[in-house]
Amino acid sequence: MKINVLITKEQLEKKTVELAEAITRDYEGKELVLVGVLKGGFIFLSDLARKIRMNVAIDFISVSSYGNSTESMGVVKIIKDVDTDVVGKHVLIVEDIIDTGLTLNYLKDLFNTKGCASVKLAAILDKPERRKVDIKVDYPGIKIPDKFVVGYGLDYAGNYRNLPDVCVIEEM
Ligand code: 5GP
Repeated sequence: MKINVLITKEQLEKKTVELAEAITRDYEGKELVLVGVLKGGFIFLSDLARKIRMNVAIDFISVSSYGNSTESMGVVKIIKDVDTDVVGKHVLIVEDIIDTGLTLNYLKDLFNTKGCASVKLAAILDKPERRKVDIKVDYPGIKIPDKFVVGYGLDYAGNYRNLPDVCVIEEM
């Protein structure tokens, strides 16, 4: 197995600081709930939350897409919904990567039915070539080519989520 670094932890940190500053500016004085998308979003959420300079509430939603592990089929199954009452609150969905866009599109629609004051999206990585739905990420991360990546929360068959950099598995 050969693993090559694609995005370094320093690049991830720089982008996270930028996004956290924009979020702090935009939500100052408002009630913000960060909703991390499990499992992949947990590391980005924990880094982002600690760089936001205002109080936030934090919750998680756990989803799985049907189909095999490397291809999202667009059918999203909610394994665990948020416990927080989000009615009237500003929700920011925090995801590891936007690929086809189907997961974030589904989650945005879901939170829009819950009576939130607003629903916005943040994703630390973006594969624009793969998009299947026209969806706007309000706090966009780093664009990457159409390669299967691991690390910084992202897995291959449950492994490699703890790699500090975003990496590409070159040889299986
Ligand atoms: P989308 O619904 O945008 O196609 O896919 C989003 C989900 O697909 C991500 O949350 C992630 O779980 C998974 N995914 C997409 N691309 C990759 C990738 O390159 N590596 C890994 N490990 N997961 C990916």
